[in-house]
Amino acid sequence: MGFMLKLNRNGESKENKVKMEGEEEREIIIVGAGICGLSTALALHRKGIRSLVLEKSESLRAVGGGITIRSNGWHALEQLCVASELRESSVPLRWFTNKWLDSSKHQETAFGVWETRCLRRCDLINTLAESLPSGTIRFGCQVLSVELDPLTSLPILRLNNGSVLKAKILIGCDGVSSVVAAFHGLKPPMFSSLWETRGFTKYPNGHHFSNDFVHVNGDHVAVGRLPIDDKLVYWFVTHKSDQGSNVPKNTKLIKRSTIELIKGFPQDMVEMVSNSDPDSVHSANLRYRPPQDVLLKPFWRGTVTLAGDAMHAMYPFLGQGGSAGLEDAIVLARCLVETFHQTDGVPKDVKEIEMALDEYVKQRRMRLVWLTLQTYLTGLLFETSSLIGKFVCRILLAMLFRDPHGHHKYDCGSL
Ligand SMILES: Cc1cc2nc3c(=O)[nH]c(=O)nc-3n(C[C@H](O)[C@H](O)[C@H](O)COP(=O)(O)OP(=O)(O)OC[C@H]3O[C@@H](n4cnc5c(N)ncnc54)[C@H](O)[C@@H]3O)c2cc1C
Repeated sequence: MGFMLKLNRNGESKENKVKMEGEEEREIIIVGAGICGLSTALALHRKGIRSLVLEKSESLRAVGGGITIRSNGWHALEQLCVASELRESSVPLRWFTNKWLDSSKHQETAFGVWETRCLRRCDLINTLAESLPSGTIRFGCQVLSVELDPLTSLPILRLNNGSVLKAKILIGCDGVSSVVAAFHGLKPPMFSSLWETRGFTKYPNGHHFSNDFVHVNGDHVAVGRLPIDDKLVYWFVTHKSDQGSNVPKNTKLIKRSTIELIKGFPQDMVEMVSNSDPDSVHSANLRYRPPQDVLLKPFWRGTVTLAGDAMHAMYPFLGQGGSAGLEDAIVLARCLVETFHQTDGVPKDVKEIEMALDEYVKQRRMRLVWLTLQTYLTGLLFETSSLIGKFVCRILLAMLFRDPHGHHKYDCGSL
């Protein structure tokens, strides 16, 4: 039986066909209800196109406390019509101050018109999810494998509950352990020796810090502090560790070992970590897709593509991974919608969808190469103990990224 691709002019599906028991057909399926999957579904929805988001967890996940959104991310959130609501829950940051423990040297950069705020991840995830039509997200659905139908060349998904779904278009927003990336032949992102521990600290009587992003560098350890509002501060500690799986998993132990790590840092930073809510503390081994893979690897195949960390997991040093996923959502929806409008619905011809996905990847690729390269070199500079290595990283960063904050001036365009 062939596909019934009945979208009206607004791209809304007349029905979702159920073929045989346990086998269902959908026009657009998105795997993963993280920042990128939700924003992709919302971008399509804003253009009147329905999608189904499959999420393996039983509810929305917002691991990791806070997330910095730079001005390029705010531009994307504007396109999704959720920026004003999100602004209500966070203060704008004014300056980025970078200090070094072993010297009086420090750098200050005004954010100025380049809006930068730190959000609670749950605020971002919930706002995106609540802006979607009900029934868009299906929880408890883990995609186990993706293959192409030998007759139609369209993707077939097998789920953990035994059901089989067919899609006209499949978008993998399933993060670093992406099944959809594996379908493209991509290796999982690399592990590094870098870790980041993050948490929230509440100051019931107000924190009295200025609304600035303060970053202090030690020897293979760095601490960042970003106020979210007058009473809540998000912090992170980046450090190098070769302990691998021996790094503590219990949040109280993580907190204790983090306090050990930052002995000698400014007292208000040590107190901030000491007074943090243990339930908010998380530690993550940092992973990245090498820049050369982002430059060369295929990111679409047939009518299947990738977005977010599944495509371009990067070190968090620029605070750009999530915003890059928001940009993906806008560009992908725009490329698809242009094709839909030409064909009055989801195109019947697979070639037309392939052209839209090819255009999407073309528009994204170099932006992502530069982001992953800058984060990769910054990570290498932090990680390496070799003086020559540090020198080479500094030279490359200075030559390639004359404006180190240029990344947040990027405009992904409108929906
Ligand atoms: C320590 C750290 C700090 C960071 N700080 C920042 C920051 O300040 N600013 C910023 O912009 N970015 C930051 N990032 C990056 C940012 O968190 C990620 O880029 C972003 O969360 C990726 O979103 P995503 O939707 O692509 O993937 P994810 O958030 O990983 O979401 C993937 C979703 O897919 C689901 N899923 C996975 N596999 C399947 C499957 N097989 N079937 C169904 N569902 C599946 C998962 O359950 C999950 O909900 C940071 C990252 C780290 C590690």
